[in-house]
Amino acid sequence: MAETATARPAALVTGGGRGIGRAISLALAAAGFDICINYAGNAAAAEQTAADCAALGVKAVTRQADVSDPAACQALVEGAAADLGRLDVLVNNAGVTADKLMLRMEEADFDKVISANLKGAFFCCKAACKLMMRQRYGRIVNISSVVGLHGNAGQANYAASKAGLIGLTKSLAKEYAARGVTVNAVAPGFIATDMTDAMTDAAKTASLAAIPAGRVGRPEEVAAAVAFLASPAAAYVTGQVLCVDGGMGM
Ligand code: NAD
Repeated sequence: MAETATARPAALVTGGGRGIGRAISLALAAAGFDICINYAGNAAAAEQTAADCAALGVKAVTRQADVSDPAACQALVEGAAADLGRLDVLVNNAGVTADKLMLRMEEADFDKVISANLKGAFFCCKAACKLMMRQRYGRIVNISSVVGLHGNAGQANYAASKAGLIGLTKSLAKEYAARGVTVNAVAPGFIATDMTDAMTDAAKTASLAAIPAGRVGRPEEVAAAVAFLASPAAAYVTGQVLCVDGGMGM
């Protein structure tokens, strides 16, 4: 771990207040990271997650920022590093869907999803990499999706954003490996959160039928993979996509 002013390593989790992001924030706090929890609109959920992280004995702060806004991404990353005294880990977890069949999908539906899921990660990576290169240590984990590897009818925008995240991950991994910064992606399958709650019953049944494990995943199961990739132990793992999907993507 890089030598800087404070004793504990520090992590920023975008969209870290609820769902998979909340589980990631808690897993990193349990691993001893001070945490900055980013949220777009739900301050109460972010504050609750921060309180739950702090109860594990670390410093936990919250920061509002819409990651669709490049300037907000830069301010978020710089603010998190200022709040926590350093930044060792960035988890680009914030994500949205706007599902429609392509012929009904408007440009605004496409732009909204690409801006939050892909451009947001790009701008947060850009700001974080500057800090991480200087300290010659960093861990970036991008939350992609099995849909980014295999596609999904009704999710052309979302699948493109998640596939784009994989290309971004591999490119940055090559650019910054020599500086001690690893960049990996985690591709969850069907995980029980508010996002998947919004799916139709037919879509849920079809997804479940495609999972060899025979059940949906838990946010904690995604968080465990992220915690490994965010740890010093994962120093020799970069540019990888770790599927956490009960075998769905095989
Ligand atoms: P969720 O909707 O509960 O969480 C998404 C989080 O991102 C929320 O906190 C939301 O406020 C935040 N967010 C959205 N747009 C934002 C923006 N512009 N700026 C800042 N924050 C923003 O969904 P989840 O299931 O917990 O998803 C977390 C991540 O995991 C997403 O990237 C999602 O695409 C990915 N994922 C989820 C599943 C699943 O089955 N749930 C599967 C594959 C990938």
